[in-house]
Amino acid sequence: MQQRRKTRQIIVGDDRVGRVAIGGDAPVVVQTMTEGYTYEIDSCVAEINKLAAAGAELVRVAVPEPKDTEALKHIMPQVQVPIVADVHFHFKRALEAIEAGVHKIRLNPGNIQDRKQVEAVIAACKERKVPIRIGVNEGSIVERRDKQKRLKELGGVFGDNKHGHFLAIMITKLEEYLDIFYDNDFYDVAISAKSTDPTLVIDAYTEISKRFDHPLHLGVTHAGPRETAMIRSCVPLGTLLANGIGDTVRISYASSSVYEVEDAFEMLYCLGLRERKGVDLIACPTCGRIQVDLFTLVQDVRKKLKTEIKLPIKVAVMGCIVNGPGEAEGADVAIFAGDRRGIIYVQGQKVANVPEEEILEALLAECKKFEAKVQSGEAKLGEKVVEIAPPDPIGELGSGFDKIAAGNVDKVTPLTIRSND
Ligand code: SF4
Repeated sequence: MQQRRKTRQIIVGDDRVGRVAIGGDAPVVVQTMTEGYTYEIDSCVAEINKLAAAGAELVRVAVPEPKDTEALKHIMPQVQVPIVADVHFHFKRALEAIEAGVHKIRLNPGNIQDRKQVEAVIAACKERKVPIRIGVNEGSIVERRDKQKRLKELGGVFGDNKHGHFLAIMITKLEEYLDIFYDNDFYDVAISAKSTDPTLVIDAYTEISKRFDHPLHLGVTHAGPRETAMIRSCVPLGTLLANGIGDTVRISYASSSVYEVEDAFEMLYCLGLRERKGVDLIACPTCGRIQVDLFTLVQDVRKKLKTEIKLPIKVAVMGCIVNGPGEAEGADVAIFAGDRRGIIYVQGQKVANVPEEEILEALLAECKKFEAKVQSGEAKLGEKVVEIAPPDPIGELGSGFDKIAAGNVDKVTPLTIRSND
């Protein structure tokens, strides 16, 4: 991991909803965007509050029409998280959103280019101390209105040196656009340069980080459904963050924005860039030695512990004793399975041996007890050096191996992979 790149800092928010710092020495901020229509006030407020409850630190809303910016006047007093207005095509939406009290504006240089219009937005933001993100997405970076120019630019984009030409266009456009801001003595700017191509995302942000000291908003645009977009997003974003680049992230999925928030935090936890909230769950992938329905168990454990445990307790769920003890040694609470049974350990101490159908409740009970001990100061997370001796596979874990050897072991319940909700 490289040290984080030092940038300018922008502040988003106000006295009522609180202020979120982006860039400088602030932690990497997680943001997302609503899915519904902003003009549907009640559902928009409900969605923003749901995303804030899931941990979103900024929430962006689209304001394509005057009825959306009009709705913002009613939405703003009802939410508890800084709001960003996403503006395309018409600078007046930005002015109206600022008037309605939003905390940040996103402008697209690809579709709001008129200098006077940009200056009008800058003046309004300056007066209200509202920062602006300049988002030069791949889809809008090339000139669409001038066919000849577009063809020439696309020739560069899709030529042999694809990224090189594209980056040249992008950097040039950014420089030109930023000049308007600098000429107006406005520096509260964040930059994004999203693409659907993960390698281009890495190259684009790397080049921008060398040239500009504004905080960077990382993202992969139109990444797809969660099942594939998770990898498409976390590979480039994780690469950039590990290289010290990036100050706020939005993972974008063609599915619920709550997942975007959860997965962005998980990525940051994995990189040690945010302090984990809630359980750190590890589990084995299962194999031909499996002796309980582990996939079902892991999903049930995940859902249960997500709502019932607040501390970052490390929990290991292991399918058998072959690798179970070794993997579980780093965990605060561990279970490994035998013949339709589970043995539970808390920091290396064996505390329960229960049949498969009782594992979930027993594990939850032990996690709760351990959490209470940590809260009272009796125990510390991850503090003990844990050594777990493998339990007796025939005695403590039932006679599973005997049965297998005799060829009469019951088959484990068919494994089910359930949805992640
Ligand atoms: S813990 Fe056991 S069941 Fe799970 S993957 Fe390892 S060997 Fe297989």
